[in-house]
Amino acid sequence: MQRFKKIRVPDEGEKIIIEHDKLLIPDNPIIAFIEGDGTGPDIWSASKLVFDSAIEKAYGTKRKIYWTEIFAGEKAVKVYGKKTWLPDETVEAIKEFTIAIKGPLTTPVSYGIRSLNIALRQLLELFACVRPVKYYPGVPSPMKHPEDLDIVLFRENTEDVYAGVEFQSGSKETDDLIKYLNKKFDKNIRIPSGIGIKPMSQFASERLVKKAIEYAILNKRKRVTMVHKGNIMKYTEGAFKDWGYKIGKSYFKDVIITEEQLINGEIPEDKILLNDRIADSMFQQLLLRPKEYEVVATSNLNGDYLSDAAAGQVGGLGMAPGANMSYTTAIFEATHGTAPKYAGLDKVNPGSVILSGVMMLEYMGWLKAARLIQKALTKTIKSKIVTYDFARQMKGAKEVKTSEFAKAITQNME
Ligand code: NAP
Repeated sequence: MQRFKKIRVPDEGEKIIIEHDKLLIPDNPIIAFIEGDGTGPDIWSASKLVFDSAIEKAYGTKRKIYWTEIFAGEKAVKVYGKKTWLPDETVEAIKEFTIAIKGPLTTPVSYGIRSLNIALRQLLELFACVRPVKYYPGVPSPMKHPEDLDIVLFRENTEDVYAGVEFQSGSKETDDLIKYLNKKFDKNIRIPSGIGIKPMSQFASERLVKKAIEYAILNKRKRVTMVHKGNIMKYTEGAFKDWGYKIGKSYFKDVIITEEQLINGEIPEDKILLNDRIADSMFQQLLLRPKEYEVVATSNLNGDYLSDAAAGQVGGLGMAPGANMSYTTAIFEATHGTAPKYAGLDKVNPGSVILSGVMMLEYMGWLKAARLIQKALTKTIKSKIVTYDFARQMKGAKEVKTSEFAKAITQNME
């Protein structure tokens, strides 16, 4: 198995196998991790302690994760040499081990890619960004009832205005493109203008909505809401919604029900409601009627805004977990950045990576360990033992270091 140059795969532990789109998780899986830059190492060692303790508490010696370190970001440059921010074997290892978890990575300045996270998503075709947003009691929140929000957001990762098809204002190619569009399609775009193209395909829209519905089925959620701006952008956002309904009503025809088919607004026990909301209205809906939403499927730009706004309702990005997934590969990750000013200070909140690990354990079907962590984390925050970010918002809190917070969580595992 030691075919990598710098990655040391443990002798014990087995690889996760995928058979007919299903994960076969051994009791001793090898899982890859990237500790991350800046505050990443502090956060990773705290998170690993929490994961290993929960697994041991839940399953004794029957189950254990064999962690394998893989490299990206500043540590990759240290290990592999100059400019190697994302070694090929890191991408190969993620493909091989199927599941990876990572801390935040520095965005390299003047390197050929926009960010390492985007590069990983593209190289591995991780088409869905999955962000659960749920309240943990005790976390400071600006809402009166933050506990009413409990959604899982699926954001399309590969298309939309983020596809990078942009043309700079004033360049000859942009002016030529504008002249062509104005003439051929009778448009009236000013010269000079910057131009961006917003591709949205049936293929990518359908696979995203399908993944969201599959999640709802697996996790017994009753509603999937497609969020779009189809009232204005009919052939992109509107098409996303239409393709979503199409796949819902065909591929999941025995399960899906739409709003027009409901009687007295009741969702039958064996059905999942597939509906849609206009993006601007959805921001209001999540504030005013959060209980009406469970799984959200949306395009790239809408999803970017909506996931951070929703995270704000339950206390901010410090505790927001995330994952990027394809059919076969998943990377679970912190949603915040490297917070470089706190690097090495053992100070920041490891909550985002810890909860990403909870998502990972759920994805693996190791629910007992996942619940242990959720409960212990809640208990720790409720007892006001928190890192600096929460301490400054909570009266009577005891501020602890990253490592002490993790230790307190393990002590609160029952
Ligand atoms: P950032 O690292 O997220 O930090 C911004 C602020 O958020 C921090 O100063 C801190 O606020 C707070 N914060 C971040 N992480 C925290 C944690 N774990 N616990 C408590 N508070 C936390 O954003 P940035 O400064 O814009 O970006 C720094 C680097 O990270 C850049 O290279 C950027 O490209 C990269 N980045 C990576 C990812 C990723 O890998 N997923 C995501 C975003 C950014 P206070 O100062 O108020 O305490």
